[in-house]
Amino acid sequence: MALDPLPASRYADSARPPLRAPARRARTSVTDDAITRIREMILTGELAPGEKLPPESELAAKLGLSRTSLREAVRALTLLGVIDTRQGDASYITNLGPELLLGALGLAMDLQREDSMADLVGVRRILEPAAAAMAAPRITDDELQRLHMLVRPQLSAKQVQEHVELDWEFHHSIARASGNELLVALLDGLTAPTMRMRIWRGLTVPGALERTISEHNAIIAALEAHDAELAHAAATVHVAGVETWVRSLAPGWSTLAARG
Ligand SMILES: [Zn+2]
Repeated sequence: MALDPLPASRYADSARPPLRAPARRARTSVTDDAITRIREMILTGELAPGEKLPPESELAAKLGLSRTSLREAVRALTLLGVIDTRQGDASYITNLGPELLLGALGLAMDLQREDSMADLVGVRRILEPAAAAMAAPRITDDELQRLHMLVRPQLSAKQVQEHVELDWEFHHSIARASGNELLVALLDGLTAPTMRMRIWRGLTVPGALERTISEHNAIIAALEAHDAELAHAAATVHVAGVETWVRSLAPGWSTLAARG
């Protein structure tokens, strides 16, 4: 598949001796070249975001590549969200927005397993307070009102899934209010793989939902006061609670969590 050439070739040269299949290595490096050339065209502005790619034969000739290698490169870049192959046979450069990060990062994050979860939450513990601190001076009344609506103590403790979805929306909204779309994409990527874990936490940790609600209110109060330092502290306390919990779990917990 087209995903294969990227990681395989990137790591093969440095990490592994060339043990097998010279033909395959050659083909992979031709695809790598094709990707590099297209990347250069994007970086130099020769291909702009949203622009239609030249016809395959023209581009292949220009880059000195076979149509097969070009096609493989286009397929790989499509999977990474750099190229959008629309109906018909035209391909376009995407808008290359921060959501690009989600494609690559999201896949890598989704494949993270139980023993990486604590580190994943640990990274959130660095970024989430930073996002809250950035949001504090600039958050609008509308955004604050939305945050209030996302804290719903009236939901029953049994509606764990709803609580976790609101929690996701709450943190996503704060990240948006930070004004840094790349930070939003990073945090979304870090949060998505922890959803199941957090549903399980809601089901098994007594008082977890109430605690979340009161910590969310503390974050809102700090944002309302436009106090960046306080917002940073409140978000740290909140995410650190989850991190401490996940670090305390016995190996094998994810199997239990998967069963719900
Ligand atoms: Zn939360």
